[in-house]
Amino acid sequence: MKTSFYRWQAPGNGKIFDAPLGESSYMNTRTLSVLHYIASKKRVSQSQFELEIKEYLEKNTEYENNNSTPAHFYRPLLFLGFIKMSESKMIELTLEGDKFLYFYEQKNYLKCKKYILNQLDNTKYPNLATKDIKLQLFPFRILFKILLDEGNRGLSKEFIKEQLVYLKESDELVFYGATQELFKIQKHNEYDKFYTWVINSLVNIGILKTIQNYYFIADDIESEVERLYKNLSYESLFFSDESLLCQLDGKTAHERYKRDARLIAEAKERDAYSCVVSSEHKTFLSKGKNYVEGHHVIPMFQQKNYGFELDDVENIVSLCPSCHREMHSGDDKRDILSKVYSINEVYMKNNSVTLDELHKMYFCT
Ligand SMILES: [Zn+2]
Ligand SMILES: [Zn+2]
Repeated sequence: MKTSFYRWQAPGNGKIFDAPLGESSYMNTRTLSVLHYIASKKRVSQSQFELEIKEYLEKNTEYENNNSTPAHFYRPLLFLGFIKMSESKMIELTLEGDKFLYFYEQKNYLKCKKYILNQLDNTKYPNLATKDIKLQLFPFRILFKILLDEGNRGLSKEFIKEQLVYLKESDELVFYGATQELFKIQKHNEYDKFYTWVINSLVNIGILKTIQNYYFIADDIESEVERLYKNLSYESLFFSDESLLCQLDGKTAHERYKRDARLIAEAKERDAYSCVVSSEHKTFLSKGKNYVEGHHVIPMFQQKNYGFELDDVENIVSLCPSCHREMHSGDDKRDILSKVYSINEVYMKNNSVTLDELHKMYFCT
């Protein structure tokens, strides 16, 4: 059993950002240029990316060609979920990558920072950017949860290098949660990369701050971090089955955001207890009505990305159990999503949510 399978690996060969957002430092410029390159192509194959990216960077930035592996230019973005790669190795921006780039151009760096925070929240091991990893956990949820619990004690860099990056099971943290004794978490040989490239990059962009070698949550995002992580259980920071990831996000959304059962009842009544995909989807009688289930069209776990309330009767549709399952677990949800979108078009358009955006939200890997 190689321990490297169980370490929190860092993607690529450097920081993704190395200065506050908006400053044109070396890595900030490089990262933004890579996003621009992918946006200009819409979709690009991995091989074409690797063929073209260095020349693109030489032309558009102060990058000087060296021997670094071309994959290092997209891996950090893949890690952060600003781009995605399909099974056929096509690379494109995710919804969040798209929005990040948009707000960066608007110079709305606070909003950009929020997008990064949200993407950190979604980042998990395993992922395509870090190879051979056998972990099944959300590294940044763990980081933020411990930072919250430690409060003004902060985290030392030794803790990050020798303990944090080796966490692999919820047991270790459940125990910590009960005792708050950080030193009892098992120690290993120092592992630098996650600390050097990831943690310090978070300091550079002001998501974390340091005071005398200790790490803390930056002041201006503290309340947001508290909102996201305070009520999460340690168990929900780990998962056992990757195929359940969508449901898993739903589960954590349950712990984070309140839902009003009355709204679902209201939506069902509005839809006359009929599946909105087709009124022919008859099920069985429950309390004298055709049985349907309420579903949030823009999923609750997306709440952090939107400024309007998602637990809204307008965002809830009635579905028969089969259509509902398809929404959560179907391989290709495009048809059913298009249908549901057209039903909710006014609400979606009022909130500037496009069909394309909705499709991307349900692309759960
Ligand atoms: Zn649902
Ligand atoms: Zn149905």
